[in-house]
Amino acid sequence: MKTTIETTQGHIEVNTLGHAGLLLVSGGKNIYADPYSEAADYTDMPAADVILITHDHYDHYDPEALRHILTPDTIVVSNEDVARLMNVTHTLSNGDEVEISGMKIKAVMAYNIEHRNEEGHHFHPRGVGNGYLLWIDGCCIYIAGDTENIPEMASLKGSVDVAFLPKNLPYTMSDEMWVDAVRMIEPRVVYPIHYFELDIEALKEKLSDVESLEIRE
Ligand code: ZN
Ligand code: ZN
Repeated sequence: MKTTIETTQGHIEVNTLGHAGLLLVSGGKNIYADPYSEAADYTDMPAADVILITHDHYDHYDPEALRHILTPDTIVVSNEDVARLMNVTHTLSNGDEVEISGMKIKAVMAYNIEHRNEEGHHFHPRGVGNGYLLWIDGCCIYIAGDTENIPEMASLKGSVDVAFLPKNLPYTMSDEMWVDAVRMIEPRVVYPIHYFELDIEALKEKLSDVESLEIRE
């Protein structure tokens, strides 16, 4: 679905592409996050100027989606695991920052506190995958990656304009965790992503007391 974010310098076009896939268009630049070919047809998507990949799970690092949008000039930002699988321009650990043609990108933590696989390991161990903060035209965008409502989110309170927060079990957040994350971050606009099913009206109801919050699909 295509929506628009107004900024001081114009606007950013937001295309949610299914699952965690995003295409942000700003100043003629195409910035993708976690393109996933099972959720959208990437065959005719515009070439990528920048691709952010949060971690190496198949629904985030997807060579089939990437081959349609990668060009020799595409700047790829990801973590160490993905850098072992493909050419990554900027390999970032949690806390690292990079500036790409006037756009600052910071890798932040994304991990499970609660949910574990059958072997007892967290699906997303702390310190491995990335979330990303992007500053475009004075607008702060938070692409959370596969995470739960981690305490580090509280430090973002009031500083995020647009947040993309994952919601599905058991890998990321329950509805309750998602609502708690929104309350910690207090973004201006929030998009649920990565979900299998979504009751947007229920989420809106649970957050109806939060002033000037817009929940978008
Ligand atoms: Zn994952
Ligand atoms: Zn995932």
